[in-house]
Amino acid sequence: MKTKKILLEEKDIPSAWYNIAADMKNKPLPFLHPGTKQPLKPEDLYPIFAKELCHQEMNDTDAWIEIPDEIREMYRIWRPTPLVRAYGLEKALDTPAHIYFKNESVSPVGSHKLNSALAQAYFCKKEGITNITTETGAGQWGAALSYAAKVFGLDLAVYMVKISYEQKPYRRSIMQTFGAQVIASPSMSTKAGRKILTENPMYQGSLGTAISEAVELAMETPNCKYTLGSVLNHVMLHQTVIGLEAEKQMEIAGEYPDIVIGCFGGGSNFSGLSFPFLRHKINEGKDIRVIAAEPASCPKLTRGEFQYDFGDETGYTPLIPMFTLGHTFAPAHIHAGGLRYHGAGALVSQLRKDDMVEAVDIKQLDTFKAAVLFAQAEGIIPAPESSHAIAAAIHEANVAKEEGRQKTILFNLSGHGLIDMTAYDQYISGDLQNYELSDAEIAGNLDKLEKIV
Ligand SMILES: *Cc1c(COP(=O)(O)O)cnc(C)c1O
Repeated sequence: MKTKKILLEEKDIPSAWYNIAADMKNKPLPFLHPGTKQPLKPEDLYPIFAKELCHQEMNDTDAWIEIPDEIREMYRIWRPTPLVRAYGLEKALDTPAHIYFKNESVSPVGSHKLNSALAQAYFCKKEGITNITTETGAGQWGAALSYAAKVFGLDLAVYMVKISYEQKPYRRSIMQTFGAQVIASPSMSTKAGRKILTENPMYQGSLGTAISEAVELAMETPNCKYTLGSVLNHVMLHQTVIGLEAEKQMEIAGEYPDIVIGCFGGGSNFSGLSFPFLRHKINEGKDIRVIAAEPASCPKLTRGEFQYDFGDETGYTPLIPMFTLGHTFAPAHIHAGGLRYHGAGALVSQLRKDDMVEAVDIKQLDTFKAAVLFAQAEGIIPAPESSHAIAAAIHEANVAKEEGRQKTILFNLSGHGLIDMTAYDQYISGDLQNYELSDAEIAGNLDKLEKIV
């Protein structure tokens, strides 16, 4: 009988995260202070993040960072996650390619986000912090952090993008069930929110605005820190448990991936799966293609510019060296809410600049077509975000078929879509559309950036 799932045991949960910055030939450029434009030191970030996370953020010397036992203990609830051979999808595509996916949708909150949420909450707790803040767009990060905050006894305030707050009430209920306080953003509770609402009372919110509000609350509240679910180096670090497990599992399968694919919002699930494999490319020259799949309506890696930019709309965060569409870019309301972020994390941006990773952009209708095919072939309804990775994997499997070559493709199933069924409803009833983005629209936002590199 052919093996379908490759499972590891709890003892195989990685004992250290992999820090790719230590191995990168060209290190990412430093973050800059938003006011002085001078390179930041870890201490400069202390007012915003837990100290340990500030040090992880700027560590480019230690390739391995030990995972504290308290976090590994929590990972045991659902890790190691299965690596699955997608025989059903291979058959549906009639492809000679071998397709594998790492199933991160089995986490209690349904996505990979819990890998970092638990780590961030743990380090905050350890430093005596009592309150944390964050933002959430689609609600996945908020849900993960709400549970993590409860586990480690922290009070959490989540700024949720207003349009999601209204359109995705169940996401809000999930966070509230775990005990978090959820506030629609923009709100009147912060200066950033009040300013935006005064200028535009009908504003439906954006991730950039919600970040500004959450950061402001953290800076003005004693014993309170901010946390972020993607983009930053320490988040990529925590997510490497995905790829480290997958590496062992591929070995058990007796294969090594030719192509590794992840969908791309700020980069955390993509980095989590791919960085451990990229280390073989960096250190041993292994021939492997690594592909980030982003939405055509938010194409920072394929059509953005490498530049210093803010992580938020107001400009509270440090300047981050990244592929960006400009922090004022307002992406269309596609259903893959988790991919509607204007920039790519610094590590992936540098790797993209150095041609270590590739990027593709995929239109909304193509992602849902891929999602339905995958659901019917594998029995799992994927998150609209993950469907970008599926569409890219299907494309590569079709290329393998045309070339008549066996290739091994590995992609990350970052989450399931069981609370995204309104999106599927719209697709099935033909109400979904693609969004075209003109070069002029992209240039318009990029022109507003101060050019530093
Ligand atoms: C948040 C999210 C993403 C996008 O974020 P990344 O940091 O780019 O991984 C992708 N998939 C799912 C299921 C998510 O919840």
